Amino acid sequence: MTDRYRIALIPGDGIGHEVLPPARAVLDAVARRHGIDLTYDEFDWSCQRYLEQGAMMPADGLDQIRGHDSILLGAVGWPGVPDHVSLWGLLIPIRREFRQYVNLRPIRVLDGVPSPLRSELTDPGVDFVVVRENSEGEYSEIGGRLNRGLPSEMAIQESVFTREGVTRILDYAFDLAGQRRGVLTSATKSNGIIHTMPFWDELLQERAADYPGVQWNQEHIDALAAKVVLNPSRFDVIVGSNLFGDILSDLAAAIAGSIGIAPSANLNPEREFPSMFEPVHGSAPDIYGQGVANPLGAIWSASMMLDHLGHPEAGAEVLEAVFGVLADSPVRTRDLGGTAGTEEFTREILGRIG
Ligand code: ATP
Ligand code: MG
Repeated sequence: MTDRYRIALIPGDGIGHEVLPPARAVLDAVARRHGIDLTYDEFDWSCQRYLEQGAMMPADGLDQIRGHDSILLGAVGWPGVPDHVSLWGLLIPIRREFRQYVNLRPIRVLDGVPSPLRSELTDPGVDFVVVRENSEGEYSEIGGRLNRGLPSEMAIQESVFTREGVTRILDYAFDLAGQRRGVLTSATKSNGIIHTMPFWDELLQERAADYPGVQWNQEHIDALAAKVVLNPSRFDVIVGSNLFGDILSDLAAAIAGSIGIAPSANLNPEREFPSMFEPVHGSAPDIYGQGVANPLGAIWSASMMLDHLGHPEAGAEVLEAVFGVLADSPVRTRDLGGTAGTEEFTREILGRIG
């Protein structure tokens, strides 16, 4: 039996166009070996499209990809196009419409990729996942400005945490911890944020009862950020609200060495809608067109896509090839201290797949 999937490819802007073809080449190589049939539809949704046609995507764009099994995205953003246009014109509508309420960012300090931290701090190995709530919390549209220009001027921004929204992200994080090393850390700040964070903490305690196999604790975000730097090896799964998860995942990605290798997933765990996989890095206008972009963030994201589609053995094979090349081949892109271009680096990885 062949498993068939339709993938929506959105290269987006800049090096998004240079990192998606390598991701696709790796996917195709590994899919063949596992009897997986992937077909792709490519969409030109981007800042370029916005500049030419006035919109990041067509009015019926979401309907065009609703039926796909997954979305693989390169990078979105370009100088001269404000971030709110690229975010609200493409990424946020996709995340919302397809209920991608989990943002997942695996963090690993890999052999062959120097971390900015001293090696004593990263021993015996760093391998954790940040689970960020991706749909509510601090990033709400509720609020506004009062008394503009007056001495009494003020700005108010409301956070919204719902029982449904918090419970589902905590359940996801507990489940994930249960499949990994069984340790969950929850980010809080209930000593300063006295309504929403105690609610989050209460729900954490409530949900924990259903996961007796998971050892859990909570830490204030300030202390937690310090521990992620000083003792990153002790973490397995860290769960945080939209804001806390956002900050922690960038901090943690920095620990891992290069933004060029960091992957992410925006998941609809119920699989009612397509999930979206994208490298953490942006469109990198400074290197676009030179053929030197590191494709690993996109390739690792593609491996997460295979996991999500139900083929973790294929996903693991991709990572084995990537980690193997980093650990024992000198071939790598400039951001990792090498001299190879995108194509040569990709060939090196393809060479390790079957
Ligand atoms: P965005 O606003 O879209 O996040 P940005 O300008 O903040 O974009 P990036 O586009 O991620 O950030 O670029 C940050 C720096 O990292 C740039 O110097 C860029 O060249 C470098 N960089 C990003 N991605 C890669 C990659 N895949 N390979 C090599 N260098 C990269
Ligand atoms: Mg940026």
